[in-house]
This record gives sequence, structure tokens and C-alpha cells, in this order.
Amino acid sequence: MIRLFAVASVALAITAVVLGLGGPAWDKTRELSDRIVGAATPTPGPTSTPTPLPLPTATATPALPANAVGLHRWDTLPVHYCIAHGEAGFIDLPTFQQLTDQAFAAWGVPTVDDGICSAAAINDGDHVNEIGFGTPPGAPPPGSRVTEAGLTLTTYSECTANCEPEDPVKLVEADIIIEKTAPREFRSRRCLYSTLLHETGHFLGLNHLPAPAVMEAQTSNCPQQLTQADIDALLARYGPRAHPSG
Ligand SMILES: [Zn+2]
Repeated sequence: MIRLFAVASVALAITAVVLGLGGPAWDKTRELSDRIVGAATPTPGPTSTPTPLPLPTATATPALPANAVGLHRWDTLPVHYCIAHGEAGFIDLPTFQQLTDQAFAAWGVPTVDDGICSAAAINDGDHVNEIGFGTPPGAPPPGSRVTEAGLTLTTYSECTANCEPEDPVKLVEADIIIEKTAPREFRSRRCLYSTLLHETGHFLGLNHLPAPAVMEAQTSNCPQQLTQADIDALLARYGPRAHPSG
């Protein structure tokens, strides 16, 4: 999956690649329960009359839609991610984190920003979803006049036995590496946001789409808004669990 940003005389590119690593069966090792914060237990005051607690309001969590054709998606929400600080880029870490949060908010799939990653480096295979600056491998061929600006690595498991028919494919890890030495023209908050919006789309399981779309493979204007095509692709995976904003 390659995304190219073409610009006037000098073609500059933002490249993203999704590598799918198929697992032999469901991977159930992902552990999110340690990050779930339980409701606080109210402590009655010493002189107060205990007040019956109101019955908890049943907030139904919408179900993910059926996934008969095996679209890549997370089936455990919210998805956690953290910001890798191992390599400095062209924008400071707090701004990078803010733009990442903003990108996920635009897609509107439940996510949790866990803050700065405990490991400095981005490690594919550790089941921690790390997002940060780095040097994406796989530079474009010489003379292509394109420049890589981002890489999303996704790992998913495919069901091969005792499958739940409604969810045959699920993501188990995604890491995003943003090119730390992007071309000067793209070293802006605006273009970084566009790249993060695109890469977080891959993070959520989306593939490239025909233009116009944030997920289009080639563009030249650092798009800031999801298009209907982006939104449709997202809703096909997450249905009522997602609240994207175009
Ligand atoms: Zn891409």
C-alpha cells in the first residue's frame, strides 16, 4: 500500500505500506483488562443517611456489524495506542501526540491514548500499538521522485478453526512509523496531521481507496477531511461503533 504525494515540479510522496502477517488461528493473547478502570465505589459521609444507589443505567454497546467478507478490523474496542519517543522528528512530541489523538477522533472508533510508550522504540510484534517518528523501511526506488513519509504495520489473526462466522479476521497489533526526515514541504503540522489521518486509517484496518479520499494512494494537498468514501469504508468495518466526522 503506497501513498504518494505528488507536487508540481518535484514530486514528493507520502508512502504507507501495510504488511499483513497472517496468524495460524485466533490470537487471544491481547490483554486489555489491566487498562480498564472500574467505577469508583462511593463512600457515604459519616453523618449522611445511606442513599440507595440508582440502578446502573444500562448502556448498550452496539455490536460490530457482520464481517462476512473478512474485512480487517479490531474486534476489541477501545483500541489502545501509545506514542513512541525513541526518535525525534520535525514536530515536538506533545504536538505529535495531539495530532495523533485528533486523527483517531476524526475516525471516531473508540481508542485510548495510553501516553508515552514504555519502550522507546517501535517494536513490531510486541502487541503494543506504537506510533512515532522513525525511518520507515522500504524507500521508494531511486528516480521515482517520491519520498516515504509513513508506514503502518498491521498484524492480524485469521480464524482457521472453530471460527466465529461474523468476525473471521481481526487486527492484533498496529504500529505507525512517521518519516522523521520528511521533505521540507511536508514538515508542517498540517501535513503531519494528514499523514497521521491516513496512517490511522490503515491502523484501523482500511486499505487504499480511489480518490477523493484520505485513504487514496496518491495525493498532493495533504487532505484534512475524511470523504464519504473513507467514512463508508470505516462504517463497513465498525458500523455503529464508529462515529466518523468528515
Ligand atoms: Zn497508505
